[in-house]
Order: sequence, then structure tokens, then C-alpha cells
Amino acid sequence: MDAHALTDVTQGGGAPESAAPQPTYLEQLLAAGLLIETGVKGLYGRSAVFEAVADGLNAAITRLGADQQAEVLRFPPAMGQHDFETSEYLKSFPNLAGTIHSFCGDDRGHRRLLARLEDKEDWTDQQEPTGVVLTPAACYPIYPVVAKRGPLPEAGKVVDVLSYCYRHEPSLEPTRMQLFRQREYVCLGSPERIVAFRQLWMERGQALAESLQLPVEVDVANDPFFGRGGKIVADSQRELKLKFELLIPVNDGLGPTACMSFNYHMDHFGALWHIGLADGGTAHTGCVGFGIERLVLALLKHHGLDPARWPQPVRETLGDV
Ligand code: ATP
Ligand code: ZN
Repeated sequence: MDAHALTDVTQGGGAPESAAPQPTYLEQLLAAGLLIETGVKGLYGRSAVFEAVADGLNAAITRLGADQQAEVLRFPPAMGQHDFETSEYLKSFPNLAGTIHSFCGDDRGHRRLLARLEDKEDWTDQQEPTGVVLTPAACYPIYPVVAKRGPLPEAGKVVDVLSYCYRHEPSLEPTRMQLFRQREYVCLGSPERIVAFRQLWMERGQALAESLQLPVEVDVANDPFFGRGGKIVADSQRELKLKFELLIPVNDGLGPTACMSFNYHMDHFGALWHIGLADGGTAHTGCVGFGIERLVLALLKHHGLDPARWPQPVRETLGDV
């Protein structure tokens, strides 16, 4: 991806202007400096303007959840291998997971590593697993933490999380990044509590999008479960309406993009981690996930690349970006 492709074409003098290809949305974002290229698909730097909008969104989400008495928990974007294994993420999404490896050898090994580099050979087989795995969804690190505390309070609980998440899905669509932020409220408690929580947040999510003057639709969805068996799991997830998404048109020529998700995990995580209800049953869980980058990209798409010129009510919702 060459951010300067457009400039080259329009200033190169070769093709007439009418023949110049329209820059893609990604090219526009890079040319405006909102995203910064790293040479890796789906891995970008963010400008101060981009981050100001992201901060405004996070603050708006905090205001929206002020009545939830949520416990705020923040983790670095990684988790221990043991907890990651317990989550069974590898059963469903082996293709998306990212693991951290490091050099653990001695001087001889170091010389071998440097020789590989020098000879432009692959050196990554000299790296060993560290026992640290990148966080795939912002809510994952909290389940083992809450489980260790013993049974949930009578009324269940809500946790507020925000994390960079890693998913190995390199793409030229700016909305599909390898490292991006999810802000989530996670609810743990009885099935009735989770169903009510999800309903409340589906309404609040739509209200937020409305106050940001974004066109939205909410639809039932499924996760991209891996492999042939995955299709059956995905079909059943849809059938049981366990996942809804709030979709906004962002990318040209493609269907609308999921910018928020509203998930009911039933007792999946509660059973894996032995999260107990006050009355001794297994906790059910659910989460509302806000895709911070996708929401920023939707705002930039619909209101233009300069937030200073966005409609005043939108700017106010974001704390006057
Ligand atoms: P889980 O149900 O496993 O806890 P989740 O529901 O929190 O997962 P998803 O629904 O997969 O996670 O993602 C939540 C939101 O994160 C999506 O609606 C989207 O806005 C954002 N998102 C997901 N993948 C990407 C990506 N590759 N790039 C940018 N944003 C993403
Ligand atoms: Zn989640």
C-alpha cells in the first residue's frame, strides 16, 4: 500500500485527471495522516486527531455506563498461556491467535541468530515461546480474575474493560486491523440479568450512534468459527441469537461494518473458569463490545476527515474534539 499513489498519479502528468483512480478510504486516511503506515497490513500508527476522537468516544461510553456501577479493570494487551488455553480460543479461532516468542539462548545461540540475520535467512525459528499470548478480546483476561474471588455478589456484577486486542487477519480494509481497541462492559450473573443487560446496551448502542449521526442497523450475527465444524457452531450461535452487531457503512463497495457487538455467552465462560453465582449455580456472562477504531473510522467516513468541521452536536457528544 503506497500512501502516495494518488499524488503520484495526479501529479505525474501521464494519465489525464479524469482517468486517475479514486483513492481508497485507506489511502485517504494515510494521506491525511490520520493513520500512519508501518509496512504491515492492519498495523497502523494513529495521529493526535485520531486519538482525540478515540478518547472522546471512550469518555462518551463511560458516561453512558455511569449507572452500571462497573468495576474498572485494565490489563496490558496480553495474557498468560494457561488462562488463554482455558478460554478454549484455540478451539474456535486458531487462525486469529497471536503468541509472543523471545530469544532464550546463550552466546552460541546469539551468534547463530545474528548469522541468520546477516545471511538474510529466517531467524524466527531461534525464538522460543514466552508463555505470553496476545489478548484476542478485551473481556478475556477478567474471567479468571473474577473466578478467583469466589462466588459473585447476589446481584451479579459488571466490569468495564479496555484493551488493545490482537487478531491475525491482515487486510487492506482499514476497518480490519491486526491490533485494535475494544471497550467493553461485561456482565456476570444470572441468565435473566445478562439478557436484560444485553437488551439495555443494544438500545444504548443505537442511541450513541444516533447522537453521533451515524446510519446504523442492528442484526443477528455469528463469530468466524474456524473450519468445517465451525460452520455448525456459527449456525447454532445465529439460531440462538447469541450475538447481535450494530453495523455502519464504512468501506466503499462493501456491506456495512460491525462497530459494536452484543454477546450472550450463556454459561460458556462461567463453566470454563468455574465462576459461581451467589446461590451456587454457574454464572452466565455477556458483553457489549465497542470497536474503538471502527467507530472512529465510521465518524471520519460520514462527517469528513477534519473533526473540527463535524456537526456541533456530534462534537459535543465527543467532548468537543
Ligand atoms: P467475545 O464474544 O469472544 O467476547 P467480542 O464480542 O468482544 O468477543 P467481537 O464481537 O469479535 O468481540 O468484536 C467486538 C468488536 O471489535 C467488533 O464489533 C468490532 O467493532 C471490533 N473488531 C473486531 N475485529 C476487529 C478488527 N480486526 N479490526 C478492528 N476492529 C475489530
Ligand atoms: Zn467480550
